[in-house]
Amino acid sequence: MKKLEKQTAIVTGSSSGIGLAVVKALAEAGAKVVVNYYSSEEDAAKVVDEIKAKGGEAIAIKADVSDEADVENLFSKTVEAFETVDIVVANAGMQKDAAFIDMTLEDWNRVIGVNLTGQFLCARSAVRQFVKQGVREGVSCAAGKLICMSSVHEVIPWAGHVNYAASKGGVNLMMQSIAQEMAPQKIRVNSIAPGAIKTTINKSAWGNPEALKKLLELIPAGRIGIPEDIAKAAVWLASDDSDYVQGTQLFIDGGMTLYPGFAENG
Ligand code: NAD
Repeated sequence: MKKLEKQTAIVTGSSSGIGLAVVKALAEAGAKVVVNYYSSEEDAAKVVDEIKAKGGEAIAIKADVSDEADVENLFSKTVEAFETVDIVVANAGMQKDAAFIDMTLEDWNRVIGVNLTGQFLCARSAVRQFVKQGVREGVSCAAGKLICMSSVHEVIPWAGHVNYAASKGGVNLMMQSIAQEMAPQKIRVNSIAPGAIKTTINKSAWGNPEALKKLLELIPAGRIGIPEDIAKAAVWLASDDSDYVQGTQLFIDGGMTLYPGFAENG
């Protein structure tokens, strides 16, 4: 039996980048998956087709994670299609960068709305569903698994990206507090904090040789990450292999959080 068989996973923002790799990996591990998308219906349909072509089960559902009614609809449609929700990866995220002095309230609110409130809404719907279901014997030791996609910028301050760093710092304490509150009900809550992963969100940081060289100075491992680096960890966190892991942030960053500036004695 595959590790995630008989389980349903929702991955928000999974028509591209990290979410795309995660949703494919969860499907390969046997989960029925929901490809949540916000605007790119065509991309989401392609992901569904690709998963189905490999023998998996997948559907696409549109939802803006910052909208309460949309998130509730995402979960009710999932239950309608697949009966349960066992794994939720709150991955959708965005940047709206600006020098702090010029940052508009609109840019602040949108990034906090998607990256933090969006994760709150998905986490709350997930936990409500997990509690309703309870532990399903023979399926998983947990009543549900929630994985929050954070960032190394939950701990590394980031000039020019104050809204983004604030949102990810918030995700960390939100994740840990939910983990503490829900552990007695066998709900596992953890996060992944990626470093630099090659996706469109950060293309300006790797899209030309000069930018890439500068970026690599921040990564002791000497390479930019790929979405699959994150997907493998998500499968582990979603499976019973990590049954005793609760409230942990897993940095997957090639050592970016190791103060690389100090590697040669500071
Ligand atoms: P991406 O832009 O490819 O993916 C983000 C996804 O979120 C997109 O599919 C987008 O359509 C979706 N999205 C945006 N707003 C949405 C909304 N309101 N509702 C639903 N979906 C929405 O970039 P990515 O790098 O794959 O980012 C995925 C997650 O990983 C984000 O939370 C990001 O902050 C985090 N992250 C990425 C990196 C990196 O280096 N790429 C590093 C750390 C953290």
